[in-house]
Amino acid sequence: MLPNLLTFAGLLQLIAIINPLASQEGEMMSTQSQNRSKIVQIGDPVLRQNARPLSNEEILSPYIQHLIHEMTAIMRDAPGVGLAAPQIGIPIQLIVIEDPKEYHAYLTPEQNKERGRFEVPLHVVINPYLFIFSEEHQTAEFYEGCLSVQGFNGVVSRATSVRVECLNEKAEPVVINANGWYARILQHEIDHLNGILYVDRVKTRSLSTPENFEKYWKGKSVSEICDTLGCEKKLES
Ligand SMILES: [Zn+2]
Repeated sequence: MLPNLLTFAGLLQLIAIINPLASQEGEMMSTQSQNRSKIVQIGDPVLRQNARPLSNEEILSPYIQHLIHEMTAIMRDAPGVGLAAPQIGIPIQLIVIEDPKEYHAYLTPEQNKERGRFEVPLHVVINPYLFIFSEEHQTAEFYEGCLSVQGFNGVVSRATSVRVECLNEKAEPVVINANGWYARILQHEIDHLNGILYVDRVKTRSLSTPENFEKYWKGKSVSEICDTLGCEKKLES
């Protein structure tokens, strides 16, 4: 477990120092809905900035150690499988990722296998370098969403295997070789550090509200959905 050295009020003050736009409400914000409200939404310029790397000294500082705790709580309350610091208004190269098996319990064994989705324990990714690792740059298309683009899901093509070189929460170098859904999560989150959102990569005709996805498309394959919606159709003018 990470050390718990600062009060929450102290953390809020430190967030305010780094990010003057961050909420300065002095109240404890511990409920799920309050945590969710900390996630900034598309249109906020912080989501389009290049996040800056952290020094080893910064990573080991009480501020960053507490930010990791805070981001983990926000990710879990959302709920989501990853959260990048720009998504809470702080443009630094810090990500938390966790994909517990209960999050994919709704998928059939076949769907889980198709996605290459398996349990990923909580971990921290700092200052990452992403390398597309797939032989012949193999890709897969699936629906994904983003906590910073509420109300939509869409089909995104991603590499099926990646290598990430980064630091962990102890400022130790780590190499991650990831496949399947975990590779997708890493690509999505690292995009956030470069000011890129999944809507920049999405097949726009596939975009759907979660309600309509449930109503019309649940249980259908991505290729079947895309054929129906004309995902590859190009406008003539
Ligand atoms: Zn996202």
